[in-house]
Amino acid sequence: MSTNSELMARRMAAVPRGVGNAHAVFTARAENAELWDVEGKRYIDFAGGIAVLNTGHRHPKVMAAVQKQMEAFTHTCFQVTPYDSYIELAEKLNAIAPIEGEAKTIFFTTGAEALENAVKIARAATGRPGVITFAGGYHGRTMLTMAMTGKVLPYKKKFAPMPAEIYHVPFPHKQFEVSVEDSLKYIDMLFRADIEPGRVAAIALEPVQGEGGFLPAPEELLIGLRKICDEHGILLIIDEVQTGFARTGKMFAIEHSSIKPDIMTVAKSLAGGFPLSAVIGKAEIMDAAEPGGLGGTYAGSPLGCAAALAVLKVIEEEKLVARANVIGARMKTRLEAMAQRNDAHPIANIRGPGAMIAFDVVKTRGTDEPDPEATKKILAAAKEKGLILLSCGVFGNAVRLLMPLTISDALLEEGLDILEASLAS
Ligand code: PMP
Repeated sequence: MSTNSELMARRMAAVPRGVGNAHAVFTARAENAELWDVEGKRYIDFAGGIAVLNTGHRHPKVMAAVQKQMEAFTHTCFQVTPYDSYIELAEKLNAIAPIEGEAKTIFFTTGAEALENAVKIARAATGRPGVITFAGGYHGRTMLTMAMTGKVLPYKKKFAPMPAEIYHVPFPHKQFEVSVEDSLKYIDMLFRADIEPGRVAAIALEPVQGEGGFLPAPEELLIGLRKICDEHGILLIIDEVQTGFARTGKMFAIEHSSIKPDIMTVAKSLAGGFPLSAVIGKAEIMDAAEPGGLGGTYAGSPLGCAAALAVLKVIEEEKLVARANVIGARMKTRLEAMAQRNDAHPIANIRGPGAMIAFDVVKTRGTDEPDPEATKKILAAAKEKGLILLSCGVFGNAVRLLMPLTISDALLEEGLDILEASLAS
């Protein structure tokens, strides 16, 4: 059997460096909130495949549903001969999505693909080209979503030219010294300097910036954006790819606010480890594209649909929305205690709704000065001690915690103990 370092050497030779690896841990198997590498070492998984595994690795009910589907058929292409699981899942999402009035849903495979199609639908519905997104936001790596993503390094470097008609505005946060008022004023300026509101199809944003550092969009921003959209016939696209499916202590993060989106994008934890994404929106908007204009060979794969139907059942049966709040509260208590330790690396800004928690690694206690080097060391120390962690944030110093919501109390404490030991080492 190969070791991690042997596999890493083969990976370096066979796979381009453009795709990163957070850890040189080659996975052999995984179960709920744990995984084992090819050397037999066991890890607690606080990354969840980047927010994909709210229901854990290989949830038995998800496995059973996919296995049953595999016995029947694995692929036909929905555009060739459709299947009922696609319809049932669309009906379920239409019923639970916080969309005003009748909703419709279409499925794709990846998060980026959902965003691409949300923009296509918004353009078809409005007959307008412009899209406004936020600095620090993340929407994917495809050509259009790369342009929508509000971070140059590493996402845009060497990949120009960007697609046209994408505009960024500053995201309100104290570290960027940007207020909600500033963000809204900037949109007004954009309307005067770059694009008239009558040419804007959509404003797209995450309800909590994920890759950008787990920064919640303030309620006043969302209300302000909803007002601008209503005033000018612009569609509001809420990207729930990372925040969706119980992570934030609501089924969808936008439910923490008083506003409703016109279009939502979901992916990641929708199908518990199987590739599936969706665009959910107001029925009349969703019907704007001409027949044949939307779709894809694998879009809404039967395996993904079967998995997602099981995921939705598991979230309900295991009360994972409430569980996210319990896990989040426990994490916050433990992290606050870690922040008080003088013998541990200083951390600050413990934040996030439900179980979508992150904190910043800082140079000096009581300041916000980012320490991305220490962040890397803490992630490496945790990995050595058997805990998989991920960083994020525009300064590279945020640590985000995305354990399965099905994690046991004992494993949660064990993982947090390792995190604490890694901060102190
Ligand atoms: N939107 C958000 C908010 C995301 O977090 C991500 C993935 N991190 C994407 C879109 C893109 O999803 P995918 O990687 O599946 O294309």
